[in-house]
This record gives sequence, structure tokens and C-alpha cells, in this order.
Amino acid sequence: MFCPKCGGLLMPSAGRMACSCGYKQKEGKICEKKIKEKKLEIIDSKQTNKILPTVDADCEGCGHEKAYFWMLQTRSSDEPETRFFKCCKCGHQWREYD
Ligand SMILES: [Zn+2]
Ligand SMILES: [Zn+2]
Repeated sequence: MFCPKCGGLLMPSAGRMACSCGYKQKEGKICEKKIKEKKLEIIDSKQTNKILPTVDADCEGCGHEKAYFWMLQTRSSDEPETRFFKCCKCGHQWREYD
């Protein structure tokens, strides 16, 4: 490593390379941008596959017998939750009707 100003040999000084002429090399790139963690407000398909439990359910689309399911409160809290299914194989979604 040589000084771009005078061509002298750079020597390590205070954690970075410096020259006797006063030149100091810039410190290594520091990522100043804070990595913002994206909040997963919407469950994407990959997350869905990890989180949701599976149940035995026949898919109308492909006939697969395993599906992910989750519960949703559809209207008022008085009403029972609706069960939603998503086929593990083809991704077909449907809801359980009472
Ligand atoms: Zn120099
Ligand atoms: Zn299916």
C-alpha cells in the first residue's frame, strides 16, 4: 500500500493506514444504513408453510390430502371462527363452511 499523495509507504496507524506526509486512508466501508427488518404484516407463502399446522383435508384442486389451516374471525366476535385451508401441494385455498 502506497500513499496516493507522495508515493510513500503507508503504515498502520490507529486502525487505518497512514503516511508520514499526513495522508490517512479512509477507514473501511462501514455500513451506515441500518438494516431495517421488514415486518411481515402479510404472511407470504414461504412463511405460511413454516408456521401453519397441517391437517387432513381433501383439496378440491389436486386431490392432495394435506392442507395448512388457520383460523380467522370473520365478522363479529359472537360468531365462531372460520377455518381456512390451503393445499400443501398446489396452494389452492378454501374455507370451511358450517
Ligand atoms: Zn504520503
Ligand atoms: Zn391441491
